[in-house]
Amino acid sequence: MIITVASGKGGTGKTTVTASLATVWDAPLQVVDLDVEEPNLHLFLWPELGSPAKAWMEVPELDAEKCTGCGNCVELCQFKAISMMLSTLTLYPDMCHGCGGCIAVCRENALQAGRRELGEIRQGRAGKIDFLMGTLRIGEAMSPPFMEQVKKQMQQTLLETNQDVIIDAPPGVSCPAICSVIDSDVIVLVTDATPFGFHDFKLAWESFSPLGKPMGVVINRAGLGTRDIYDFCKKKNIPILAEIPFDRSIAEAYSRGRVIAGVSDELGTVFVSLREKIRDLAADSGKEVSHA
Ligand code: SF4
Ligand code: SF4
Repeated sequence: MIITVASGKGGTGKTTVTASLATVWDAPLQVVDLDVEEPNLHLFLWPELGSPAKAWMEVPELDAEKCTGCGNCVELCQFKAISMMLSTLTLYPDMCHGCGGCIAVCRENALQAGRRELGEIRQGRAGKIDFLMGTLRIGEAMSPPFMEQVKKQMQQTLLETNQDVIIDAPPGVSCPAICSVIDSDVIVLVTDATPFGFHDFKLAWESFSPLGKPMGVVINRAGLGTRDIYDFCKKKNIPILAEIPFDRSIAEAYSRGRVIAGVSDELGTVFVSLREKIRDLAADSGKEVSHA
């Protein structure tokens, strides 16, 4: 079973929930930090990490001596990553999406496959948990191609171990968020009940609903904000899987990099209950569920 913990905006407590859920999970588990622009799950789970492996994307390189200036590649590239100015061909590797089309249409073999660094992938162990994280190269504009490579590594480990997986997704509803939920069996949306939280939660729900995956909500800082999100969930029949109270001890634990499921017995119970409700959601949708 693959569970993705997502949120419509940053700062809802998505990573806090992911870390706590991981620590109460009672079956073999792989945790994946797919929030590659700002991975921080390791700050809570403290994994022992191996050496980073660089991830690359194929981009064209020009052999100017072979180029006849026919312009086929310029015409083909839909991303304006190649231009022709005064008969001089210029490549913009940072705008390239790596489709390889320009290389395929160049009859002179003037374009060859080069590569652009996307980021670094690291694997390790946090106690019994397999840990995987990706860190996007600073300045890299496109995270989904890199995320796909992190997910490939995740699938490889899955093939070998048949674990459950919990993914910490990037916040928001754009391509990186969709890339992180697309393979999930269950989506857990973390939000708070403030007007901003409710607004972005609705965006996330509307974006992910067409995927047809079981989805539930964790309301963080419960007690703050309005009742709008509760009314909305009731109207749309969205299950509220857990409520995490607005409590100073949680903020203090977070600021010290502690997993909040361990702050008190009550909070531990909240996350054990969340675990079981996620399993129920998956089972209701026909997914085979692993137990300890
Ligand atoms: S398709 Fe090849 S030969 Fe034509 S402009 Fe592009 S690089 Fe040059
Ligand atoms: S590989 Fe695709 S996106 Fe990149 S420059 Fe060539 S045609 Fe454009």
